Amino acid sequence: MTDRPLLTEVCATTTPGDFSAQGSRDGVNVVMPRVHKFGGTSVDGAERLKAIAAIIRDQGDGSVVVVSAMAGVSNELSRLVDAATIEDEGREAPGVPAAPDPSAALAALKKRHLDALHVIVEEGAARTSVAARIDEIFDGAAQLLSEGPSGEAGRFGDQLMAIGEDLSVELTVAALQAEGIPAAILDAREIIWTNADFGAAVPDFESIRKLVPSNILPLVEEGCIPVVQGFIGSEAGGATTTLGRGGSDFTATLLAAALGSPEVVLWTDVDGIHSADPSLVGESRVVSDVGSEEAVELSYFGARVVHPAAAKHAIASDLPLRIKNSFAPERTGTLIHSDRGAAPAFAAVAHKSDVALIRVRAFPTALAYGFLARVFGVLGRHSVPVDLVSTSHSSTAFTVDRDEDLSAVRRALSVFSEVDVLKNVATVTVVGRGMLREPGMDALVFWAVEKTPVYLISQASDVSISFVVDGDEAPELVRRLHLSLIELKEGAREEEAARSEEERSEEESRR
Ligand code: ADP
Ligand code: ASP
Ligand code: MG
Repeated sequence: MTDRPLLTEVCATTTPGDFSAQGSRDGVNVVMPRVHKFGGTSVDGAERLKAIAAIIRDQGDGSVVVVSAMAGVSNELSRLVDAATIEDEGREAPGVPAAPDPSAALAALKKRHLDALHVIVEEGAARTSVAARIDEIFDGAAQLLSEGPSGEAGRFGDQLMAIGEDLSVELTVAALQAEGIPAAILDAREIIWTNADFGAAVPDFESIRKLVPSNILPLVEEGCIPVVQGFIGSEAGGATTTLGRGGSDFTATLLAAALGSPEVVLWTDVDGIHSADPSLVGESRVVSDVGSEEAVELSYFGARVVHPAAAKHAIASDLPLRIKNSFAPERTGTLIHSDRGAAPAFAAVAHKSDVALIRVRAFPTALAYGFLARVFGVLGRHSVPVDLVSTSHSSTAFTVDRDEDLSAVRRALSVFSEVDVLKNVATVTVVGRGMLREPGMDALVFWAVEKTPVYLISQASDVSISFVVDGDEAPELVRRLHLSLIELKEGAREEEAARSEEERSEEESRR
């Protein structure tokens, strides 16, 4: 593998012009396109891809499209990566589900993509050429799997994971072209440059800011829709990297920020940000207007409808983010922006189940000071990010990502303290700026939590309060908090409004 690849597949014979970021070319202002990102369910099969083409046709101005892998494809690829890596390392893995048969799994994935292609594109040269490219992608994957990771698990994993998005861009361009919309693949590896932290690569913002406008705007000016893989990029040696699971949202905000786009639209399978995960709380409401601080908290604490990195990057770049339903594009969706201003009080409940709780208690012989510094020193040295913390003078408890390898941290902490790690826990978080300062709010929160055993409570700002509970208890707690803070409160507000209206009309009829 040598340097990063050069720009290869673009519409016609475009040559990148002298674009600067933030909307000007050779000093002349140009209208920047919106970036539309379609998640896994929105590209899942021919009908969904046709719906994308209709959505893009309905956009007045130029658009840039970012796509994820079809629903479930990244999970399947991840299983193949795990199976190959575990085998390569010769490890026994108790509890790990039986490894999928690689050739059967690849054949099933290939069939899924070819089936979609056959519906989207009529038989002919166009179909043959996309089918040949799909063949090529799967041949590459089979070859990769037969060679195995050869000790470089991260590099191997990212190369295999990327095929999900590589396949999606092929089908999306085919679907757009089939509807007469000029479109071309712009390979994310050419514009999303990252470091070499495979699996969770960090974008090189400076390079991206230069590469994105100069590669994308010539296409847009020609009336061609660039279609970019979400989630993937490349490191300096040219190898494919990934930005972490769910990272396509981040790709979209990276592109939009570099272009100075007026907005990013994340198209998904729900109407916007709900007051709780709608798959858990049927009574949840769509919130039309969310402040950026709340959006970041919600995404960090489990509302996966927006990726935390995307929410943070959008705020830092002053970029409005809209969430819309690709199954019902006429609905307004949710707008996340920094100047939510006087929007009505907002509250939402999020939960996250892939966390571990680490409890650390200083040995009685330990010095009375320096305990917390030692604990957090260990976490810093092992680069373990901490989510929630609670402490007393000689003990502390905190949550981390459950997938973190905690054995070295545990050993280091055990030198000066007793440590226990609970893996079957979840965090439940109530988010709402200012809301927690409203009189009576604490009582409503604790009324809902009353029956649930709680391991840890954490509130570091007036934007959110979090509880760590047993994983099995989390869904019920989310429902109770939603009932108490949102449904009952809303009911009370409506009753109060009706009472005031009644009093007003009585007053008027007395006059
Ligand atoms: P995509 O593949 O389009 O990126 P995701 O699965 O990543 O979609 O995110 C959408 C899902 O997020 C929804 O289907 C929903 O179940 C879940 N979700 C969790 N919390 C929330 C919330 N507060 N509001 C909306 N959706 C939520
Ligand atoms: N396909 C990738 C994943 O499932 C990226 C994304 O969907 O955002 O994690
Ligand atoms: Mg997502």
